[in-house]
Amino acid sequence: MSNDNNAPAAAPVSNFIRHIIEADLAAGRHAGVTWGGKPGPAAAHAGAPADPAKIRTRFPPEPNGYLHIGHAKSICLNFGLARDYGGACHLRFDDTNPEKEEQEYVDAIVDAVRWLGFDWGRDEYFASDYFDFMYEAAQSLIRSGHAYVDSQSAEEMRANRGTLTEPGKDSPCRGRSVDENLDLFRRMEAGEFADGAHVLRAKIDMASPNINLRDPALYRIKHATHHRAGDKWNVYPMYTFAHPIEDALERITHSICTLEFEDQRPFYDWLLERLAEDGLLARPLPQQIEFARLNLSYVVLSKRKLIQLVQERHVDGWDDPRLPTLVGARRRGYTPEGFRAFAERIGVSKADSWIDYGVLEECMRDDLNARAERRIAVLDPLKLVIDNYPEGQEEECLAPNHPQQPELGKRAVPFSRELWIEREDFAEIPPKGYFRLFPGNSVRLRYGFVVKCTGCEKDPAGHVTAVHCEYFPDSKSGTPGADAYKVKGNIHWVSAKHAYRAEVRLYDRLFKAPNPGAGGRDYLEDLNPDSKTLITACLEPALKEARPEARFQFERHGYFVADRVDSKTGAPVFNRTVTLKDSWGKVEK
Ligand code: ATP
Ligand code: MG
Repeated sequence: MSNDNNAPAAAPVSNFIRHIIEADLAAGRHAGVTWGGKPGPAAAHAGAPADPAKIRTRFPPEPNGYLHIGHAKSICLNFGLARDYGGACHLRFDDTNPEKEEQEYVDAIVDAVRWLGFDWGRDEYFASDYFDFMYEAAQSLIRSGHAYVDSQSAEEMRANRGTLTEPGKDSPCRGRSVDENLDLFRRMEAGEFADGAHVLRAKIDMASPNINLRDPALYRIKHATHHRAGDKWNVYPMYTFAHPIEDALERITHSICTLEFEDQRPFYDWLLERLAEDGLLARPLPQQIEFARLNLSYVVLSKRKLIQLVQERHVDGWDDPRLPTLVGARRRGYTPEGFRAFAERIGVSKADSWIDYGVLEECMRDDLNARAERRIAVLDPLKLVIDNYPEGQEEECLAPNHPQQPELGKRAVPFSRELWIEREDFAEIPPKGYFRLFPGNSVRLRYGFVVKCTGCEKDPAGHVTAVHCEYFPDSKSGTPGADAYKVKGNIHWVSAKHAYRAEVRLYDRLFKAPNPGAGGRDYLEDLNPDSKTLITACLEPALKEARPEARFQFERHGYFVADRVDSKTGAPVFNRTVTLKDSWGKVEK
């Protein structure tokens, strides 16, 4: 495959998962996979044609929370592989746990995966739709002597499980007959027993060096209402039992999961083998492949912590632009293209590692730099008065929308006698190497005229309230005389009379420590108190028309997006996505 002449020019970087898939394809390992058009047991696929999708992967979130940046890695990986190898990727809601799952999360997950740019066609599935099959499968395991009902208490079970160095002890219930097990399991399902009274377990080996093979639980009693199945069930399958079955019913070829499931793989294979032997599942069976999850500095990705941040109002909801949720990142102005580039850049490996948050920001900058139009914004306004410019007069200056893309054209920016400039672009007493405005110095007002500073006004406290200057009428950018003026400073400005005053939220990182909570500290102590600053900025008038989610580079400041929630027609508010340069990297060095 690697020397295939038809490979796209910008081929994705190879990795160990791609090697496995390429070897499998070359060996025709999936040639025997049949596809009856929808998930189902062996019978549903028997006699069906060979699967037209060459590989099948899946993204299997549990709908118990919002997706985060870590999930984006898994989404890009699974959908990306399906795309690159002519396969299909399923979106599967792993909703086997009735208590924490909600439709709200299902909807948010659908939106987030679509937003990242992926499409699963008709392949959207719910694990709960397989509950009938799973119940059958459990009974089949009982009949073949591979499962039993255990009536030990949770404490007894834990005590008899053994440790990493000591084998476990057989349960006194392990010898129950098939009939007794079937009877008990059916009565568990019928609702005759309280939660925890019995558990259905696989009968494998209590002395196995792999603790996951010491008769793992398959089904537990739970008198709970499920968000889709309602009150139909009084027993629910364990994740480790359900997940392999879901994969097999959907004819997944490569079941890609994070490293912590590596020790579960023997059980994954054991279970599918038993059910294939019983004739319930079609061969070839899916194979599980583990990769290292994304660990990202300066954020927390644990669902528990994200929920705490939202519930205790450390942030303003799930879509707070500072949260690493995908809804938050979207509001922040991060782009799907940036996420896909990030996934490519960090790659896939078997070894756990930490990625610096700056890498993600750099991917967003690269993408935004290429695509975001430029606009002018004064974030910390100070008045500049051009004393020799006629009062009441105004004219237009032309500013390019993108310096590297002339085809995006230019726009007119109004110019008048009073402008807003950045407070930091004036110094009454200039520090060494300062080329911007100070009395006697000349600078270019970007896309406009050269002006010479004549002085400033101050309030009684000595605070500068306005700067004065004179302009050179023949110095306008783009006119023949302009080049005669040589100045070192080049500052941006917005006409005071025309400025659009708008709320701008200057977001920064949510945590000030690279590894929040490291060393046993409460991770909340590492929250960055300056992660959100609200200002009223003076923006060039064109920004008044910005649509929600329109992204811009505010020259010299960074990338900003019109907030998709709080913007009103003709009155957008802006969020800072990322600064132009990585100030965090500098601080550390
Ligand atoms: P939970 O602890 O509730 O299981 P989870 O983050 O694993 O949380 P899931 O809904 O089970 O949430 O995750 C869906 C998929 O996303 C899984 O296949 C999981 O392996 C993957 N995933 C989750 N976190 C990361 C991460 N940090 N990096 C890469 N993949 C991840
Ligand atoms: Mg999980």
